Amino acid sequence: MNRKEFIRMCGILGVGLPFPSVLASCGSDNGPDASFTGKVLIIGAGAGGLSAGYLLQQLGIEYEILEASSAYGGRMRINTTFADFPIPLGAEWLETNTNIFSEIVNDSSVEVNIETIPDNPDRKFVNYSWFNFFEDFIVPSVSSKIAYNTIVRSIDYSGDQIIVNTQSGQYAADKVVISVPLKILRDSDIQFTPALPQNKIDAINSVRIWEGFKAFFEFSEKFFDDSHEVDISPETDGQKIYYNAALGQNTSRHILGLFSVGTPASEFSTLSGNELRDFILAELDQIYNNQASPNYIKHITQDWNNEPFIKAGYLSDHADWRTVRTLGESVADKLYFAGGAYTDGEDWVSVHTAAQSARNVFLEITR
Ligand SMILES: Cc1cc2nc3c(=O)[nH]c(=O)nc-3n(C[C@H](O)[C@H](O)[C@H](O)COP(=O)(O)OP(=O)(O)OC[C@H]3O[C@@H](n4cnc5c(N)ncnc54)[C@H](O)[C@@H]3O)c2cc1C
Repeated sequence: MNRKEFIRMCGILGVGLPFPSVLASCGSDNGPDASFTGKVLIIGAGAGGLSAGYLLQQLGIEYEILEASSAYGGRMRINTTFADFPIPLGAEWLETNTNIFSEIVNDSSVEVNIETIPDNPDRKFVNYSWFNFFEDFIVPSVSSKIAYNTIVRSIDYSGDQIIVNTQSGQYAADKVVISVPLKILRDSDIQFTPALPQNKIDAINSVRIWEGFKAFFEFSEKFFDDSHEVDISPETDGQKIYYNAALGQNTSRHILGLFSVGTPASEFSTLSGNELRDFILAELDQIYNNQASPNYIKHITQDWNNEPFIKAGYLSDHADWRTVRTLGESVADKLYFAGGAYTDGEDWVSVHTAAQSARNVFLEITR
């Protein structure tokens, strides 16, 4: 069973994936231990890194988040100018049930009321996004601890203190949470001393990392379906879906989305400018009887493969769960891995699983 099939089965059975409550386990044998007094460095301010910092902040543990780019959010990025609702350039759907929001916030005194609608097999935000959720509920607690434009180049965990080198200086910590995209590790953009364990290196190098590309087109008419999946064979090569991005939004605009991962996304990556626009319009004209080109107004694209600190889409849905589990395992009680690719192997690549993996790391560090 691959990841998608597993999630679909959970949906059919009406169960969400387990998301243990940190507060509920506080003070228990397995719960967090506020007596941990060391410093934690978190590398990457995406869903995984932000969630890890947020939980450490709740327990009053010293931490800092080092982020290579000039912004938080990573693959949750949105565009706020293309339409009159946020356009999710990466994570768009809620791939679990809505309880997840208060589970991530982890504070019963905070009211979390996020409007979503079903969009089989997932849910969609209404004039809102994963990015907005993190911006509203998570980032205010951690924003003062994020160092931007700080590119981690190497991590030396051979001594008692871990030394992290960036292009602009050196940091020391007792624990390091690595929350960068898997492709960053695959490309050895961060050097480790000593080298990571061989099984971790093998896992990093053996899994398929799908390329990722999205585009949004505004048209003067809605001639397209709410969802049209293009057949990709074999299915392990990826996915390509044209869909109604305005579905359920408070808007009168006709916005079509293109979601692609794997081989189809790498094909879009080879094109740019008008050539890319015309390629997509030609495909839509073929699917929708020449209705796309005459109704075209404007478009935007997001090529995740060309983002210097992301470099790809995400870990393939078809990865072997045991290998995924290895990706998520900590090293020498010093290095911890949180994010879309670093889970316990039950599920991966979604925003909520990135948050869940951060919670697992938090429990491991503070136990
Ligand atoms: C096209 C696409 C569609 C998706 N759709 C969905 C969806 O509908 N629903 C869903 O739940 N998920 C979706 N996802 C997956 C989801 O976006 C990711 O799983 C999640 O956002 C990953 O979070 P992360 O923290 O692991 O990594 P990221 O968000 O990638 O964050 C990693 C951070 O590390 C930083 N970084 C990299 N290198 C360094 C370095 N050397 N030093 C310091 N910082 C560094 C990066 O700048 C980045 O900010 C989608 C992803 C893509 C690409």
